[in-house]
This record gives sequence, C-alpha cells and structure tokens, in this order.
Amino acid sequence: MIEVKEISSAVAPLACNIFDHVAGSKHEQIVFCNDPETGLKAIIAIHNTNLGPALGGTRMWMYKTEAEALNDVLRLSRGMTYKAAISGLNLGGGKAVIIGDSKKDKSEALFRRFGRFINNLNGQYITAEDVGTSTKDMEYVAMETKSVTGLPESMGGSGDPSPVTAYGVYMGMKASAKFAWGNDELNGKKVLVQGIGNVGRNLVSHLTKEGAVVYIADINEEQLNKVAAEYGATVVSNEGLYDLDIDIYAPCALGATLNTENISRLKCSIVAGAANNQLAEESVHGPMLVEKGIVYAPDFLINAGGLINVYSELNGYDRSKALAQTEHIYNATMDILKNAQADGIHTQLAAMQIAEKRIYNK
Ligand code: NAD
Repeated sequence: MIEVKEISSAVAPLACNIFDHVAGSKHEQIVFCNDPETGLKAIIAIHNTNLGPALGGTRMWMYKTEAEALNDVLRLSRGMTYKAAISGLNLGGGKAVIIGDSKKDKSEALFRRFGRFINNLNGQYITAEDVGTSTKDMEYVAMETKSVTGLPESMGGSGDPSPVTAYGVYMGMKASAKFAWGNDELNGKKVLVQGIGNVGRNLVSHLTKEGAVVYIADINEEQLNKVAAEYGATVVSNEGLYDLDIDIYAPCALGATLNTENISRLKCSIVAGAANNQLAEESVHGPMLVEKGIVYAPDFLINAGGLINVYSELNGYDRSKALAQTEHIYNATMDILKNAQADGIHTQLAAMQIAEKRIYNK
C-alpha cells in the first residue's frame, strides 16, 4: 500500500520572514533551485534590473548554513548592481550561489539542471563563472540556456576574466597614486598584494613590470613560492601583515579585511585591490580610512574589469575594446576621489551616489 503523506509534512514551517529580510536591500526576485536528483541546491538573487538584465557569476561554496548562502547571494547581487551602474554598463545586478564542495560535488547533470533554472528566468538573469566555478562549468550551463557569459575563448567567449580585472585594479591603483602623490608612477613603491590567485597574480605581473617592490601573502604556500620565483616578489607571513611598512595595500583574497582592528594598524597611504566588499561596514570603515588619511579606491569600481569583459561578450567579444573600456577605470577613480574630497564624504559613498543616480534615475 502506498503511504499518502499530508503535503504539509513535506514542507516544514519556515522560521524567518524572507520578505522582511530583503525589504531594506530592495531585491526584486530570489529563486531557490532544488533538484535532489543531481544534488543541486542553488539560490539566484536578482537585485535590480532597471538598467538591464541582472548579470553576475555563480559561486560554488560549502556554506555552513543555508542562511549564510542566502546572505552571501543577497550581498553579492546588490554589489553587482552598483558595479554595473558605476561602470556605465546597461546591466542590472544579480548573482547565484550553489551550495556544495566545488572539488567533489560538480557534475555535468548538476550544471545543466542549473542552466534550465536560469533559462526559466527568460533572460532576466545572466550568469558567468565565479569563485568555485569555471569556464568548463559554464559550457554545461550553456547547453541549456543562452543566458550565460564567460565561456571559453574556443567557443567564441571571453575566457577567464581575471587578467582584465587585474588590469582595472592596476588602473585604479595608479589613479589613486596620482591623487595621493601627484604622480602615478609605482616604480619603487612598496605594494602588498594579499591573495595571489587569478587576479592577484596578474596584478603582481603589472606591478613588477613597473618596478614596484611587491610583497605577497596567501594561505597557499605552493602558489606563494611559484609567484615569488616568477616575479621576484617577497613572501610575507599572514601574521603581522597589517603592521607592514608599505605604500599600498591591495586586498585580492577576502572581503571585510578593512575592519576597525586592521585599519588602526595599517601604515599605507592607499588601499586598492580586487576583493569584493573590502569594507567590513561601509558607514564605519569608509570614514575611518578618511580620518587616517588613507586613500581608498572603491572595490566595486576598480574590480569591474571582469564584468566589463563578460559584458563585451554579449555583443560579440572584442578583447581590445574590453581592455580600452577597462582602462577608463583610471579616470573614473580619479573623478570619484576628487568628488569625495570636494564633498567631504568617504570614497565608497561618493561612488555609490554616482551609481544610484543611474540606477534610480535620481
Ligand atoms: P582566486 O580564488 O583565484 O584567488 C584567491 C586567492 O586568495 C587564493 O590564492 C587563495 O589561496 C587566497 N586566500 C584565500 N584566503 C586567504 C587568506 N585568508 N589570506 C590570504 N590569502 C587567502 O580568486 P580571484 O579570482 O583571484 O579573486 C580574488 C578576489 O577578487 C575575490 O574576492 C573575488 O571575489 C574578487 N574578484 C575577482 C574577479 C575576477 O575576475 N576573478 C572580479 C571581481 C572581483
């Protein structure tokens, strides 16, 4: 005999109010993608589509709790709205997270099922690779939907966005140098690059070519030794990192390193790096950097090269055009640093205000 369960027993009561939770952040749509057959558990968050379809990568991460995954996707998708707007792109902001171990839980079936969920959104959300996902994974997604960018170059895509992101960070750093010191030469300047993964490594390449004295920190020792040998950078330990006597700190690993403790220890003149959400709390740590006389290049402005690169793929990829548009980050950074100084506000706020003018037609 078949056991007939009440429908309610399969759907446990929810203990939180999601609509209340997202009221402040103004998200338009949140999609929970569940497929026990492939093991897919994903959340797609569409923050805003005023300027165009919401574009943002898919992160695969072993989140400790589902709440942590939801918070991450909400935070990251909002950031994408601002990044697209400040970069002058006709795109909205979105992001997706897949809960799982990117080393063990990936399969073609999982990414194809995920692609079908994206396809159901009829172009409102466009995905790309992000932490824990690769261009190969995006190939599987592309079997089910056209709403995907960051495909391999062999498929006519834009490939790995990291070198373009690094170029944009380098441009933002040089503009910050010009603002702080009246000269954008980085020759002889001491720069700490924290995190020498895909972006950090490419940034180290630009910096050493210009003659900067580069210090590198990472948790991956093998990678540290490789990059040190290739570029002549000096490895520093993670202990005492924030006490180093340097000119520029480039966070290229984790978010939220600009917190009260670290800022009080920092001895640099400039912070300019690729990591998303570097300020632990925008309204506290943005002003704190100003008080310390540290020039902060807003992360979502200077790390937009990767987004510019995948955006260009939507209209027929042209790398030289993507790089030229990324180079504009230099001027955009300079404008924001000057505006912030003139208005007596912190640089992240100045950048957000300019983005909001476009997003909400203020
Ligand atoms: P990645 O995973 O290739 O590199 C990150 C590096 O940080 C790794 O080498 C890792 O070992 C290191 N790391 C992790 N935890 C660390 C810690 N506690 N201390 C020191 N090092 C640590 O990532 P990526 O693509 O180079 O991106 C770097 C950052 O830039 C991320 O925050 C990412 O979200 C952001 N970002 C990347 C792009 C892009 O195009 N890849 C675009 C925009 C923003």
